[in-house]
Amino acid sequence: MKIGENTAAAINYTLYLEDGSIADSSEGQEPLNFLFGYDNIIPGLEDALEGLQKGDKKTVVVAPDEAYGEFQKEAFQEVSRADFPEDVELEVGMQLALVDEEGYHVPALIDKISDDTITMNFNHPLAGRTLKFEVEVIDVREATEEELEHGHVHGPDGHHHH
Ligand code: ZN
Repeated sequence: MKIGENTAAAINYTLYLEDGSIADSSEGQEPLNFLFGYDNIIPGLEDALEGLQKGDKKTVVVAPDEAYGEFQKEAFQEVSRADFPEDVELEVGMQLALVDEEGYHVPALIDKISDDTITMNFNHPLAGRTLKFEVEVIDVREATEEELEHGHVHGPDGHHHH
């Protein structure tokens, strides 16, 4: 079976940045399971995996616009120091989840700290990066109807309840 519409796949992967450093890897963990065609993984990687089957290996290079987007200068926002709980120690580089007006958690990095304001960077940590994935396909199977309804995988065998 090949990765494509109505399939779920399991892959092992290692993600390298331009400088060769490893940003993420499935090594030592369960393979990554995803449902094809539902934005479970970044579009550039998904497109490159279409048509592969169990045992296939591939190196995939993904430009920012097919990964986590370009780095946006506008994605910085100043927040009043008073809006943060007093007992939280804030440090530059720290990741926080802020809650937006609709109640969604939005991850952001602390970019700058001054007496009254904290500058938050809402860019994804991998925004603007070209990503290189080394991928090995561990399994490809038919997606269950339930998975297609939900838009995500239910574990390696499709029967994980949640
Ligand atoms: Zn579900």
